[in-house]
Amino acid sequence: MMEDLLKKLSEAPGVSGHENRIKKLIIEEIKNDVDEIKEDSMGNLITTKRGSSEKFKVMIATHMDEIGFMVKHIDDKGFISFETIGGFDPRTLGSQRVKIHSTKRDYIGVIGIKPPHITPQEEKDKALKVEDLRIDLGLTTKEEVEKLGIKPGDPITRDISFTKLGKDNIVSCKSFDNRAGCTILIEILKKINNPDYTLYGVFTTQEEVGLRGAKTASYGLDIDFAIIIDSTVGGPIPKTEADKVTISLGKGPSIDLMDRGFILSERVKEILLKAANESSIPYQTHISSGSTDGAVVHTTKEGIPTAVISIPSKYIHSTVEILDLNDLESTLKLAIKSIEIAKDIL
Ligand SMILES: [Zn+2]
Repeated sequence: MMEDLLKKLSEAPGVSGHENRIKKLIIEEIKNDVDEIKEDSMGNLITTKRGSSEKFKVMIATHMDEIGFMVKHIDDKGFISFETIGGFDPRTLGSQRVKIHSTKRDYIGVIGIKPPHITPQEEKDKALKVEDLRIDLGLTTKEEVEKLGIKPGDPITRDISFTKLGKDNIVSCKSFDNRAGCTILIEILKKINNPDYTLYGVFTTQEEVGLRGAKTASYGLDIDFAIIIDSTVGGPIPKTEADKVTISLGKGPSIDLMDRGFILSERVKEILLKAANESSIPYQTHISSGSTDGAVVHTTKEGIPTAVISIPSKYIHSTVEILDLNDLESTLKLAIKSIEIAKDIL
């Protein structure tokens, strides 16, 4: 079941700042499992599950936006230039299909690259640059493109479908970062019933462009304990040094020790380790060179005890990420057990 949900969410569009469609899907999934659904002006989806006591308040936050593109300009020949939204390696951009989401409907286009036959050697050796790439709809004039309703500002996502790889539990798609997190939070909201605490399930916006949604979402709530569920670089990745990718798929979620904006506190570390050990949940730890919503959440107001649990994803921020579904199960268990332990300690 988790797999079907992950497929649906990962294939859905929701570039940073344009999360309405993924948000609608999430609301459909959880509307009967929560007591309240709210949106703030940053577009965050804030759900509340009231329990038998209001003494302890927990937020589980996960970002629902994905990296993508935005239409920048349509030239006279109908080629579309675009801007990237979020962290892309330009080498991964050429030679793929994308979806342009105009207000009328979605259109498939191609980010084409010059065939090798006509590419001079010195150009082949150079890395691709975003400003040199165009989206081709197979049309030949600006007017034809405009007639489709496509205009500057329209969001663009990668046209990639979900598939299984070498084993049934190993799957690949775009945007597991962070639709994997969304899948887990939805499952948590379904699984936890009548808690003796208040649970806020928050699906944040604009994480990929600077943790923007989480900032306003966490400010508006009273939170005693926060768990951020996100995705991180998993291995093994061929020809990569061992100290560059320190966690692997299939060995459980990462309890993040530190990243560019967050250091795990001793107190919260103790809670997570106790949760993992008591329930024999596999886990790994790692130091990330990125950052997550945890960076802004833990410094909100007078500070919030915060944990960042990351799902290892191979080839993250490319079009063909790989996940182990068993890691999702372990992440789900670790998050739920950590709340139980935190309630007694904090
Ligand atoms: Zn992420």
